[in-house]
Amino acid sequence: MAQSNLLTGLKRGVMGRCPNCGQGPLLRAYLKVIPACPACGHDNGQYPADDAPPYFTILLVGHVVVAPALCFSFIWTWPAAWVLAVTLPAIMAATLLLLPRVKGAVIGAQWAIKQNEGEVPGADESPAWTPRDASS
Ligand SMILES: [Zn+2]
Repeated sequence: MAQSNLLTGLKRGVMGRCPNCGQGPLLRAYLKVIPACPACGHDNGQYPADDAPPYFTILLVGHVVVAPALCFSFIWTWPAAWVLAVTLPAIMAATLLLLPRVKGAVIGAQWAIKQNEGEVPGADESPAWTPRDASS
């Protein structure tokens, strides 16, 4: 049985593999999650990545591509149209390359923490604070 830990889930997700077995593909058609792993049958469709992959991709591209680009003098000396012609394709390529890998990593992290849609960790336990405590 696969050991569920964060590093394993992240690594398998970045590689585009099922976080549960590391064998089957995780995504098809660029960003669509394959609901059931063809290799182990794990339900990968249960992990709601939602807006996290674009958020983390923008964060990464902004720090890894855009911020270092500001160190090159052509950014400040060339006409704006030339700068955009050079930098926008690089930014777009980095974004499109990173997005499926980040989505895989997000799903791998959700697999590692056993996050299932609709389940809230600790929801079945009694709350530590109740409204009656506030009046006393
Ligand atoms: Zn699998």
